[in-house]
Order: sequence, then C-alpha cells, then structure tokens
Amino acid sequence: MQLYKTQHLKVYNSLSSTKELFEPINEGHVGMYVCGPTVYSNVHLGNCRTFMSFDMIFRYLRHLGYKVRYVRNITDAGHLEDDADQGEDKIAKKARLEQIEPMEVVQRYTVDFHNILQKFNFLPPSIEPTATGHIIEQIEIIKEILDKGYAYEINDSVYFDVKKFNEDYEYGKLSGRKLEDMISNTRELAAQDEKKNPQDFALWKKAEPQHIMRWPSPWGDGFPGWHLECTAMSTKYLGENFDIHGGGMDLKFPHHECEIAQAEASNGHSPVKYWLHANMLTLNGKKMAKSTGNNILPNEIFTGNNSILSKAFSPSVVRFFMMQAHYTSILDLSNEALLASEKGYQRLMEAITGLDGLNTGANSDFDIKEWRQKCYDAMNDDFNTPILIANLFEGVKHINLIKEGKEQLSEEDKKILIETMNSFVFDVLGLENKNDSGKDSEKLSGVVELLIELRNEARANKDFGTSDKIRDQLAALGVQLKDSKEGTTFSVSS
Ligand SMILES: [Zn+2]
Repeated sequence: MQLYKTQHLKVYNSLSSTKELFEPINEGHVGMYVCGPTVYSNVHLGNCRTFMSFDMIFRYLRHLGYKVRYVRNITDAGHLEDDADQGEDKIAKKARLEQIEPMEVVQRYTVDFHNILQKFNFLPPSIEPTATGHIIEQIEIIKEILDKGYAYEINDSVYFDVKKFNEDYEYGKLSGRKLEDMISNTRELAAQDEKKNPQDFALWKKAEPQHIMRWPSPWGDGFPGWHLECTAMSTKYLGENFDIHGGGMDLKFPHHECEIAQAEASNGHSPVKYWLHANMLTLNGKKMAKSTGNNILPNEIFTGNNSILSKAFSPSVVRFFMMQAHYTSILDLSNEALLASEKGYQRLMEAITGLDGLNTGANSDFDIKEWRQKCYDAMNDDFNTPILIANLFEGVKHINLIKEGKEQLSEEDKKILIETMNSFVFDVLGLENKNDSGKDSEKLSGVVELLIELRNEARANKDFGTSDKIRDQLAALGVQLKDSKEGTTFSVSS
C-alpha cells in the first residue's frame, strides 16, 4: 500500500493562507510547477534555497508513493531588468556587455546552475522546459486572451487589461491586494507609457530594431512577457488544472498573480490547487545583494574563498543547514551557523555509519514505531524539516546509548530504525554521507593553521625565506593565504 494512504500530508496554501489537507486532483499523481532561474548570471544562493525547498518537497511526495511530474523551467528570454515591462532583457543585456550571443549567456549559466545543483545533490526535475522553446504556445495563449477581451493591442505590443479582468474575476487574490488600492497607490502613467493603466502588464512586447532576441508574431516582431512563459509551460505539461505551483516569496506579486490572471482569462478557471512559497535567505542578518557586497556564491562556500568564512563547508553541510529551517521561514546564513550545522551533520552521520553492526537484544527499550510516526508527523505538517531533524537526533541519542550498552533494541526494531534513518536522511532530506571528507577538511584546517603559525614565527624572526616558502608551496597545492589586519586566513581552490 502506498504511504500517502496512511500518512496525511497538510500543506500551507498561500492562496487560502491556511494549512490544507493535500489531496491531488488525480489520486496518486501530483503535478508540480516551480519557477526556475533566469540564466543571466551565476545562480544565487538564495535561489538555491528556494529550489532546495522544492527538491525536498519533490522527494517527500515521491517517498509517500505519489507519481510526481515536476516541471521547473529555465527563463532564457522575456525577463526584463525591472521585473515588469520596462528596461532591457536581462539576458540580452549581459550578451551586449560581454559581446556574445544571448544563447551563449544562457548556455553558460544553465551549465553553472546544473553544476551547483548537482553538488547539492538535487534530483533533476521531470521536465525542464525553456521559455524560448515555447514561443508558439505563448502566442496561442495571447490570442485566446485577446479573443476573450482581456487584452488589447497597441503599437505592435499586447497588454493584459487588468481593470477589465477584475470586473469578471478577482485580481490580487493570491497576494491579498485589492485593485482599487493598487490604483490609488500608483502614480500617473509616464508620458512614454502606452498602457491604459499602470497595473496592466505585457503579454507581448514589440522588439525595437536593436533588440536581438525577437520572434515573428501576428503583432509583428517581438518577444513574450515574462509572466506568460510559466502559464504556457505549466499548462502544456501539467494541464489547465494542476496540484502545486511553487516559487520564492518574492514571486507572489506580480509574477504569480499575473499567472493566475492569464490562466483564468484564457480558460476561465483557476490553474493551481496549492500555491507554495519558500522564504528567503539572509546573510549575517541582512538581505543579500551584490550591490552592497553582502553576497556569497555557492562555490565560495564550498572553497571557503570568501572573507566572511573561516573555512570551507561541504555542500552536504550547507544542505543540512538549510534543512534545519522551515521552508517558509527566513533563514540567516553566517559562519557561526555553518560551523554549528557542520557539528550537527557530523554527529548525525557518525550515528548512521555502521548501523548494520549495531548489537541487538531480546527487547527494545524505546518505542521505535512511535518514533517513526513522529518523523512522519513532522513532515506531514507542511514539510517541517527542523522538527524532523530534532526527531532524527532523538534517534541518534538512542543509537549512542545502544552503542554504549546502556539500552537495547530488538532485531526487528533495528531494521525499522535503519530503514527510517536512511529514508529520511538520504531520500527525503537529500543529504549525502560525506563524513570522511568532513573529517579531512577539519584535519586540513588544522595543518594549514599550524603552517600559518610557523610562517608568523618565521616572519617575526625576519626569516622571510622560510615564510615565503610556506606561502608559495601552499599556493602550489591550491591553498591560498590571505593576510589582513585581523590576521591570516586561507582558502582552498576546488
Ligand atoms: Zn514563473
């Protein structure tokens, strides 16, 4: 029997702002769509957290026995700089600055994205469609919306008519906004703006002669609006009605609101049963932003090559760190938090390693089935991974007591213990047992710290021959020393 028949999952639905019992449209099958990255730069660590949350959700749904079709797109056109209808296309701009083809930009950063996700042990989605691969589908939806009267054409562009739509449907229901408030809070349209109302959004934009990413359409050469691609790709692969739509909190408005409006305008009903939103990642208590320098790339964590870190952290440790927070909570990344997570991760892996050899006794001193159900209860409560991890550590406590001979476990219960631990730690949380490499990096840190100390002594004694030799030979081995007022730190290149 499938687990989902006995384990009743509840999910927090942003659309109703409540936790609801999860009942997919077709029993046993789940359709899930998650907005993917715009591939114009290296993947952001905050985005990694969002995608990791949905990777965990994908894994748990599969663990429960659902057949899941998971669609996560690649945005390779149409995403303008201000996230709305103005500014340059993010990919075209990068291509212009670097004097390469837009598709070279797309290729480079799609490869980067996949590399990073692989290091984090993500499962690949079932389908990974691109916006440029679905221009025809997008044009078809625009035609339908025009036919139904919820869009208008002006100067070879097509805009969604939010005011008209709101007369028949409700614009703003996902983000809890009212159109009247939006109208009273916005300034007059700029003189050059051709839209009827500031809330209207582009379905199709006319391509100016210098715009290199362009496609023919009934309205002339142009490109699709950013919100439209997700409607086109989710409808194509999951149908007009599907179970889960996910993404970062920041996409709720306007992106997801516009997706709902487009679907309702073109086929008359709401597209998604459960809207799930993942929260953001901050760095040292502040929002991450390239412009302020409060920013870190995934690879900088894996190599330790960033001034906020005292050492490198493995992808599994970072994954464990992220899973220690609920996906709807803000999570703050810092060196201290990663160090603490590393200790926890190592304690967990040490307990799991060699479980097969655990001694068994005639009886069990603790109720293994009750413990297993507590693990499921945590996950069934809107994927509460921090509570799950607390329960796993409850298991670790018993494992250690058994290893010390202070408790015992029956042969049958031992099987349940091993199976439960493996399922949750590896299949659901997606961690990998890289215990040895964790220890190796600890040892390496110790050795390099020792060499830094010897180098400092050499420098204090004006023995610069020795101090330079230490620095240069470490560099040759891929270990870079960095001197600053606060002392010397090091980083390891991968
Ligand atoms: Zn999207």
